[in-house]
Amino acid sequence: MLPDSKVDNLIAFDRKHLWHPYTSMTDPLPVFPVSSASGVRIRLCDGRELVDGMASWWAAIHGYSHPRLVRVIRDQAGIMSHVMFGGLTHEPAVELGRRLVALTPAGLERVFFCDSGSVAVEVAMKMALQYFHATGQQEKHRFLTIRSGYHGDTFHAMSVCDPVSGMHHIYSGVLPEYAFAPRPECTFDQAWDDRDIHALRELIENRHREFCALILEPVVQGAGGMRFYHPEYLKQARLLCDEFDILLIADEIATGFGRSGRMFGCNHAGISPDIMCVGKALTGGVMSLAAVLASDRVGRGLSSGSPGVFMHGPTFMGNPLACRVAAESIDLLIDSGWEKLVSRLAQGLKKGLSPCAAIEQVNDVRVLGGIGVVELSQPVDMVRIQQRFVDHGVWVRPFGKLVYLMPPYIIDDEDLAFLTAAVVDVVREEVSA
Ligand SMILES: *Cc1c(COP(=O)(O)O)cnc(C)c1O
Repeated sequence: MLPDSKVDNLIAFDRKHLWHPYTSMTDPLPVFPVSSASGVRIRLCDGRELVDGMASWWAAIHGYSHPRLVRVIRDQAGIMSHVMFGGLTHEPAVELGRRLVALTPAGLERVFFCDSGSVAVEVAMKMALQYFHATGQQEKHRFLTIRSGYHGDTFHAMSVCDPVSGMHHIYSGVLPEYAFAPRPECTFDQAWDDRDIHALRELIENRHREFCALILEPVVQGAGGMRFYHPEYLKQARLLCDEFDILLIADEIATGFGRSGRMFGCNHAGISPDIMCVGKALTGGVMSLAAVLASDRVGRGLSSGSPGVFMHGPTFMGNPLACRVAAESIDLLIDSGWEKLVSRLAQGLKKGLSPCAAIEQVNDVRVLGGIGVVELSQPVDMVRIQQRFVDHGVWVRPFGKLVYLMPPYIIDDEDLAFLTAAVVDVVREEVSA
């Protein structure tokens, strides 16, 4: 444990010099110094332990410092941490590619490795553009998406994020303006209402000649509002894309690897996209790595005409350390009996969060797979609520009106009950404050 003076120092430097996600440089939200993490526990520098409800933003599905993941990363670091992927290849990349092709929906056979989710979205969008360019349909060069989506923070990824929550007005004139269909309204549990797809159909019927791809998050809209929509919407979207020769890009960066109760969001609808992005949980939360999988048709089409190659190649492409730990994380996921773990998580979240539904200022409580959401009628006070959660011994980080949980799959019933009880208590305190 660090002595208090060292910790004070660390916080002071951090506050003065380090940017944290979505917070002010002059008046930043407080941060809590962490010394280590293992299993479902995050240990603060002052010795307190917090039960983790966030899996570090969808990533740490096996919890922290899992011995199998630590072991392969140690081994691999001794063998080869990195070599360039231009002109070279290696077993970690091939083994990860093999697993991804086998695990993902049928037809996705061409794997591109990159560094992060946002970059994966850039890569996927460039693939769609280059596909139509190479096949002589240059007029198909605009993207279509649905509102309430989130696809990352780089420029083209931002251009398909929800225009309101993504603050497009700040970047007007810089961001390309793409087409937005209304968000799906029919929820995962409701009976399907065919009217939900009409607006998307109309947009596509009117403008398909200019659309190269429809990009969406399958079934779960994450950072754009934590919404669960009906799988039939996704099915219908697939059919429309087929009918009008538009590529379907599935952004599975949040939903991939079991979080929604199926291995991928697309599995709920039984569809295969033309291009799919994975990231976040890909390495079990150990390192940053993402992958884009494309169908054979996209891979071949793109390579068939000018310039004949895909114009992207990050320095750390196929990083052996990251690929090795990702392959191990996938094996671990399969060995863990994840379907049982996630359905047990769903039951625990439903039961544990249900008292929130009786709180007047709570608009909705919803659970899908390992995701539990309590939606309030007003945005929370971040400083106050964050401190309260820490005082309750849990790590939960709300945004806006949303208090949500997506714990590591390995959490046991007792820790899960502790976590949901803390949410119920803190939400009660928050709305009466
Ligand atoms: C987090 C996320 C991204 C961006 O990934 P980064 O690794 O943060 O760049 C893109 N799409 C979805 C659906 C995400 O949840």
